[in-house]
Order: sequence, then structure tokens, then C-alpha cells
Amino acid sequence: MNKSAIQTIAAQELARALELPLTSEQLDRLGKVFFVLSARMTSTAGTATFRGPSQGRVKLSLPIFTDPRNDDESNLRNTIRHELAHIAAPDGAGHGPTWKRIARSMGCTAERCHEMAVTRKTRRMFRFTCSCCSKELATIARAQMPSRIVQNRVSVCCRAVLRVKEVAN
Ligand SMILES: [Zn+2]
Ligand SMILES: [Zn+2]
Repeated sequence: MNKSAIQTIAAQELARALELPLTSEQLDRLGKVFFVLSARMTSTAGTATFRGPSQGRVKLSLPIFTDPRNDDESNLRNTIRHELAHIAAPDGAGHGPTWKRIARSMGCTAERCHEMAVTRKTRRMFRFTCSCCSKELATIARAQMPSRIVQNRVSVCCRAVLRVKEVAN
């Protein structure tokens, strides 16, 4: 899904929520909702803020929802409903019964955790072994060895050539 498709779905979901038979206080909170698509939010699908100057802000992860693996829009709709229920529910409701009731009335599965593909930043890892005694000296994220293991590019154990192999993270 692209950015504008996400925005369209978010607007649809908010309009839908405002039609629900909620209390005037809950509808009032929902009336203040604005959506922010965050490029930096990489491991959380959505968040809701219901206090302070950002009150009513629903943040959605761009990396997650623009990921082709999450193209099924039901995940996005479910996340939006989850966050809108947080906005409508009173402060401190958490994921308790009040939140659950509102979330379900919005058509949310009211599951706490999302099951979407998340791309984690992977670091390339390198394993260093001594070519003489085959001792594994270190597995580190850098191709450069710390001086405690290498002296003049040879192993500290045998003063032999080091073997470097990239390993799966
Ligand atoms: Zn939640
Ligand atoms: Zn050695």
C-alpha cells in the first residue's frame, strides 16, 4: 500500500468510528483525531496519544504498512481500529474491558499484538578464527578486529593469519 492509500483508509475508518453509538465524550475524543504516518516507527504498527498537546494523534508505521508483505488492508484497518479505541476509551483503560468493548464495536479483533511482518535492521556479522589452532576468536559486527585479539593482523594466540568469515545473523 502506498502513503495515500493508507491515508484514505485511515480517513474511512475514522468516519466509520464517528458513526458508532458511542458516548458524546467518546465521540468528542474521536473528533480530535489526526493521523501521522511515521517513517521512523519501524517495529510498532500504530500508537495513540490521548494526553497533552498531541491529544488525538494516531501514529501509523509507514515501513510496516508500505511493506508488500503487509499488503492485506485488513491489518491496517485492524490497527487503526485498535488505536481509535484507545482514543475513545478513558485514560488508563489500557487493553482492559472498556477498551475491548469499544474496539470490538469498531470491528477490531481486539488482539493486543499485531502479526505483521516487521523488517529488523540486520547487522552483518563476521567470525574470526585463528588459521593455526582454529580457535574462534570473536564474532562481531565489524570487519575490523579489536586490538585485544589482533596484533599486526595476526592472532594473539599463535601469531598466525586470521580467517574471516561472514556468518548468518
Ligand atoms: Zn493498544
Ligand atoms: Zn591460534
